[in-house]
Amino acid sequence: MGTIADNLARIRAGLPEGVTLVAVSKFHPAEAIREAYEAGQRIFGESRPQELAAKYALLPDDIEWHLIGHLQTNKVKTVVPFVSLIHSVDSWRLAETVDREAAKAGRTIDVLLQLRVAQEETKFGWDATDLERFLQDGSLGALLHLRIRGVMGMASLTDDAEQVRREFAELREAFRRIKANYLPQIDLLSMGMSGDYPTAIEEGATMVRIGSSIFGERSYGI
Ligand SMILES: *Cc1c(COP(=O)(O)O)cnc(C)c1O
Repeated sequence: MGTIADNLARIRAGLPEGVTLVAVSKFHPAEAIREAYEAGQRIFGESRPQELAAKYALLPDDIEWHLIGHLQTNKVKTVVPFVSLIHSVDSWRLAETVDREAAKAGRTIDVLLQLRVAQEETKFGWDATDLERFLQDGSLGALLHLRIRGVMGMASLTDDAEQVRREFAELREAFRRIKANYLPQIDLLSMGMSGDYPTAIEEGATMVRIGSSIFGERSYGI
């Protein structure tokens, strides 16, 4: 592990043009984020609303904060005032809640629809058939304070490289279908983390979410 600046430089050098890096800073202190900020990074991803709000208050205004983790409906209010992109809209109930809170705050919020492709039960996300129903009947399109920007997903945590590749391909195919049939304006496909982002990029990711390869291992004690 080099310094945060070294890690960022190394990762950036390997990203093709058109792929956006979200630096996942969850569980790391504000000083670590400041170090990445000073190395030019402006987009940070957090998974817990309270932690995101606390860091937002401490750090420069030109940071774009992304919420990447599962969001409970009663926590939506905490992030709505300042979040730039919510990657993890994974149910109709959450979509409706974000829309309602965004309307109250006078905002339109950029979101991704999180799809579940991994084999693990622990992963959140829409089932592709359910999602299709909400797109087809126009319910999602009627949420005027949500701007749907694309699709997010996570591959299974496994050593089976072919399975990981198949799951990313499945996400790309879902993205393509949604864009072709319902939402021609979508432009973001968020997939790939420290352990699997090169494969995600080969399969068409336009946004990668990288934490431990930049900031080191997370200490869950803090
Ligand atoms: C923590 C997390 C990441 C980053 O994981 P690393 O393996 O540390 O790169 C990416 N996406 C989501 C949704 C996460 O929760």
